[in-house]
Amino acid sequence: MPWEEATIHISSVGHASVSAAFEGVHSYWSETRGALYGFRFRDHMQRLLDSLRLGRLEPEFDADALVAAAAELLASWDSRGKDLYVRPWGFARGTHKEQMVPRGTPAEIAIETWEFESKLGRGRTCTLAVSSWPRFNPGASPASMKVFSNYHNGRLGNIDAQARGADWPVFLNGAGNVTESSGSCIALVKGGRLITPDLASGVLDSITRNTLFRLAEDELGLSVETRPVERTELYLADEIFLMGTAAEVLPAVEVDGFPIGDGKTAGAITQALESCYHDTVRAVTDKYDAWLTPVPAAPTR
Ligand code: PMP
Repeated sequence: MPWEEATIHISSVGHASVSAAFEGVHSYWSETRGALYGFRFRDHMQRLLDSLRLGRLEPEFDADALVAAAAELLASWDSRGKDLYVRPWGFARGTHKEQMVPRGTPAEIAIETWEFESKLGRGRTCTLAVSSWPRFNPGASPASMKVFSNYHNGRLGNIDAQARGADWPVFLNGAGNVTESSGSCIALVKGGRLITPDLASGVLDSITRNTLFRLAEDELGLSVETRPVERTELYLADEIFLMGTAAEVLPAVEVDGFPIGDGKTAGAITQALESCYHDTVRAVTDKYDAWLTPVPAAPTR
């Protein structure tokens, strides 16, 4: 491909990708309804646009147009019985010779999709280690921006946790308080209360976290505390779980060698939340239909 003929220029996804933002979104097959449903598509698309705007890139689509585009892409797949991941991302249009993409650069939007395997209801668990790399300072690079550049810290934490025999890292902020994992938020259960770090601790405003807290309050009658969380609270928690689009609800059974609960299986509240989340995303219940985007069936070929 001659350099000048490239329609998506290689230089716009090289060093210029320091300015690029993305989303990870799920669509779930509903056995109950025999259809595919996008989960909270509009909230994800709005967060993508917000990340781009905070980085002074200018997308030419609104959230509704992006939701419609994602649904159209999924409708072109033969999705019967499958769950499809959706990866919208935005990056600087044009050619760029350096990382300092200027303010006001138009943003290209691409949407990819591929099949994923949901782990909901499989009894999966994980182990955690407090990362020896602290979380990036949200005052220097806002945690609310889902930009690729924020993920290098996460990558270092992953490698560090795995080298120490754990599945996922837990990052502490500059004050030594808990923030999140590399691609998911964290919550703990203590004395029947659900506790999670507040946004000011430096965490992404997770759509799964928002969903689970609504379900915890509405379906399980639990109260949710959003506040700074000390490292020691992890070690003494009754239950801990990670939450995020990809992580879904992922129970943790060990942190830094401290067993959580029986050290082997998910606690009762985590299991109940996972089950509510399953019923919501798979459209078993119709109570949360406002969060679901129905995807039209693919044309039969
Ligand atoms: N924190 C980080 C750093 C993430 O990458 C993600 C995944 N998007 C989350 C939290 C969870 O966010 P969400 O529930 O919106 O997927």
